[in-house]
Amino acid sequence: MSLPLERDEIQQLTEELEFIIAAHLAWFKQINRALVCAISPNDTDLLPDAHLRSPFGQWYYTSEPHLLAENAVYEELGAIQQAMHAAARMALLEVVEGRRPAADLYDQCIDLSLRLNTRLRNLQLEIIGELLTTDPLTGCASRRGMLNRLREEQERAQRIQRPCCICLLDFDRFKRINDELGHPAGDAVLRQGMRFVSGTLRKYDSIYRYGGEEFLICLPGSPLKDATQVVERIRAGLAQLPIRLTSNKLINVTASFGLAEMRPRAGVEEAVANADLALIRAKENGRNRVEVWEG
Ligand code: GH3
Ligand code: MG
Ligand code: MG
Repeated sequence: MSLPLERDEIQQLTEELEFIIAAHLAWFKQINRALVCAISPNDTDLLPDAHLRSPFGQWYYTSEPHLLAENAVYEELGAIQQAMHAAARMALLEVVEGRRPAADLYDQCIDLSLRLNTRLRNLQLEIIGELLTTDPLTGCASRRGMLNRLREEQERAQRIQRPCCICLLDFDRFKRINDELGHPAGDAVLRQGMRFVSGTLRKYDSIYRYGGEEFLICLPGSPLKDATQVVERIRAGLAQLPIRLTSNKLINVTASFGLAEMRPRAGVEEAVANADLALIRAKENGRNRVEVWEG
């Protein structure tokens, strides 16, 4: 599973999109002027690769995979922008030849330009929305909207008739880490520990920061037995993970885990409560262990 966007990535993308939207609107104005007033267009707009030369093109077509590569809105943008430039080029060539573009062609230019503008804005809003649902310290999803998203997972599990498990993770003796090594050390444990846990999970698993040093992991598609193995692997890996403090000192931490399956027609809250009971048992039985709620 890849972590959601980091805060500075969100800020950077928001600013990039603001710039691209402004450039697109300036282009839109200038194209309209050329078409309506029959003024000579910019030479670049007459080129077959005009879509690559615009600020959008330079932002979209990069050599490295884009931060937004898997975003559905982002994926659509390329085709819209290319079609828009192709239509604009055809319409402008008519003007250059001293003719008027057909109404259909003009409509196409306008529709595609407006559509691109709307999609760019939607993408920007979606990215800003990430700030509201992302925990700034760990990059995990925040608790806001968690229950709704868990309910969606439960409905999906029922639809495809696959089980779905909930796991609560709670760092062991965390107060002691803060007390003995300082609050920044505690933060480093949360940040590096959860980066490790996120990296261990599959793409369709999700993690929420449930409370201070407590996290909720949703494991769709896994029966309790498989989920137990997954969580056991996380537990063992986390216990071995060297965590580097700002002093460069390396420390190890452990966590306890409570696991429960979501029952098809019961509330999501019930599964969370059951995972919590299992977690309490894991603490009682000595910590650094996984306990499963068996019903
Ligand atoms: P147990 O093994 O029973 O879970 O003991 P514990 O010390 O982990 O549990 P307890 O709930 O007593 O302490 C949790 C501590 O986590 C208390 C709180 O100050 C700390 N904490 C919560 N959120 C953060 C955070 O964002 N950063 C840091 N550094 N500490 C935090
Ligand atoms: Mg704890
Ligand atoms: Mg706790």
